[in-house]
Amino acid sequence: MHARCREFDWSATQLGPLEVWPVSLRTTVAAVLAARHPMLLFWGPENIQLYNDAYIPTFGERRHPEALGMKASECWKGEIWETVVRPQIAEVAAGGMATWYEDQHIPLPREGRVEETYWTYSYSPVFEDVGRIGGALVIAQETTARVFAERRQQALMKQLSVERARLAAVFEQAPALIAVLRGSEHRFEQANHEYRKLVGHRELIGRTVSEALPEVVGQGFVALLDGVLATGEPYVGREIPTVLVSAPDAEPEERFLNFVYQPLTEADGSRSGIFVHGIDVTDSVRARHAVEAAAAELAEGKARYRTLAEAVPVQVWTARADGRLDFVSDQTAAYFGVAADELLGSGWSNFVHPDDLPASDARWSRAMTTGMPYQTEFRLKEGSTGEYRWHLSRAVPEFDDEGSLTGWVGSNTDVEDERRARAEAEAARGVAEAASRAKSDFLAVMSHELRTPLNAIGGYAELLEMGIRGPVTESQREDLARIQGSQRHLLGLINEVLNYARLETGTVRYDLRDVNVSDVLAEAEALVRPQARVRGLTLQMPAVAPTATVRADMEKLRQILVNLLSNAVKFTDRGGVIAIDVHERELTVSIAVRDTGIGIAADKLATIFEPFVQVRADLTRTAEGTGLGLAISFDLARGMEGELTVESTPGEGSVFTVTLPRGEE
Ligand code: ADP
Repeated sequence: MHARCREFDWSATQLGPLEVWPVSLRTTVAAVLAARHPMLLFWGPENIQLYNDAYIPTFGERRHPEALGMKASECWKGEIWETVVRPQIAEVAAGGMATWYEDQHIPLPREGRVEETYWTYSYSPVFEDVGRIGGALVIAQETTARVFAERRQQALMKQLSVERARLAAVFEQAPALIAVLRGSEHRFEQANHEYRKLVGHRELIGRTVSEALPEVVGQGFVALLDGVLATGEPYVGREIPTVLVSAPDAEPEERFLNFVYQPLTEADGSRSGIFVHGIDVTDSVRARHAVEAAAAELAEGKARYRTLAEAVPVQVWTARADGRLDFVSDQTAAYFGVAADELLGSGWSNFVHPDDLPASDARWSRAMTTGMPYQTEFRLKEGSTGEYRWHLSRAVPEFDDEGSLTGWVGSNTDVEDERRARAEAEAARGVAEAASRAKSDFLAVMSHELRTPLNAIGGYAELLEMGIRGPVTESQREDLARIQGSQRHLLGLINEVLNYARLETGTVRYDLRDVNVSDVLAEAEALVRPQARVRGLTLQMPAVAPTATVRADMEKLRQILVNLLSNAVKFTDRGGVIAIDVHERELTVSIAVRDTGIGIAADKLATIFEPFVQVRADLTRTAEGTGLGLAISFDLARGMEGELTVESTPGEGSVFTVTLPRGEE
């Protein structure tokens, strides 16, 4: 018997002193006290408590040691007497059978607070010597720690399964290629969506790499896998070109993969498989290749462009969208006698002639804001001589695909010599024009001087013919007629020369009005009809709409038409036809004089409108003609903003066409 139990004064309890205890109580108490399981005995009607050391923690420090020999109702009062202890003692007492409770929840005061504890225990009836139930033996085991451990484990398991599911989802949906290969044959155990997609959703699981993906055999992957399994060293591949079939019937396609083969090591250190993890970097590799190729091309292009820039005999430069120079050819820098870098910073404004600077600056900034091509002429100072030379500076804008201005490609061309030549030519032309004017003036004066005596000759011949100076013989009359004929002819010539000279000096005034075409034609025709009749020619006049008008000087137009018609009469043989056509267009009206005459050789057509040209003087039927008629007509047509053209076939005839603007009303 336990010392404490022995020393306890049991006589104060219902049990009475030890000596009076029944045998059954003594033996039970001895067994309880010897047991190392927590045990508690309730005895007698008052349920006096006896317990062993293992049971002490059950009370909690607070109530022990007073609990010994205490009435259970007092000991557990207010806690679990009513809820647990009493009903269970009663149950055992009533049924005589042991009861068993597992992991029963029992709130117990411990360390100054109520603790949630769990117990697995039994209540067993203990019989008195006489065979009645004298008490209840409680064998209890606290299971709080286990219950909590189990609960934690359950929670962990639950969490684990959630994590597993999450992991599986991550594995499946990962944007990377993931597969697990098992065994020395590299059999697919798992492969995620990305991996399956890469290989065209072929059957993988349970197959070896060579069976599932026959196209990789011979690309070295199986050997790599073997190596990883053999050495345990992971393999890391970067941008490995891999030919794969990415759709059931597709052609094998080259793809680029970044991947890791990682050995899967078991607890015993053996290697059971390989974890494959990778990323398809095909798009980025291809894009990079394209960029690299473009960059190489660009570099090559730039190099050529620079060579070109140096090869051409002009200053070549480029500028950014804001107009700042970002490239100048060596020649450009050499001209200014500075380093290219210096120009890139400041441009060549310092070298532009101060007088030309405002205009060129204004143009450049206008180009900048409008994105329109830039062009200006300015004088640039040559570094070595300090001389200014005229340059034509031009720049064309460059745009990107979106149409935004990205920069300028420009050039400065030395136009000094050209400008000088141009100035010289201008001066020469001025001189030539002056000379030509002088010639015309001379002709005008001369013609006038010639006309006066000629008129006198005519006048005196007439006097003689009229017999005022005395009778005239028949042969003298004939001579007088010849004198008069020649005088008239000479006067005609002089008049034409004078007309032409006036045209050339620009002193002719045009009185432009709406001229009725049929009227002017009728007048001209009336003038040439007698000649045509004498020469046995048919003159065909068109039916012209009475409303048809041209913008012209009536006199001058009639002069042109008379000239064309008389030429036609002159150069057409007897029996020929002279026809006039009128053609009205939207803005112009053409009058064509067509003959069936001798025509004009092709090589003469070009000069026919030049003054003093006569194609074949021998064919000029009469002594008349100066070779000025067409030149005058041509200039007159031009003077009225019209033109005179010719088409001709030798032996068949000619067509002279005068075209003038339509009348305005
Ligand atoms: P000309 O006073 O000599 O007629 P024109 O200037 O009128 O001067 O004509 C120049 C020359 O063009 C003529 O001499 C003639 O050789 C040629 N010519 C002009 N019209 C015709 C024509 N209708 N047919 C053939 N030759 C023509």
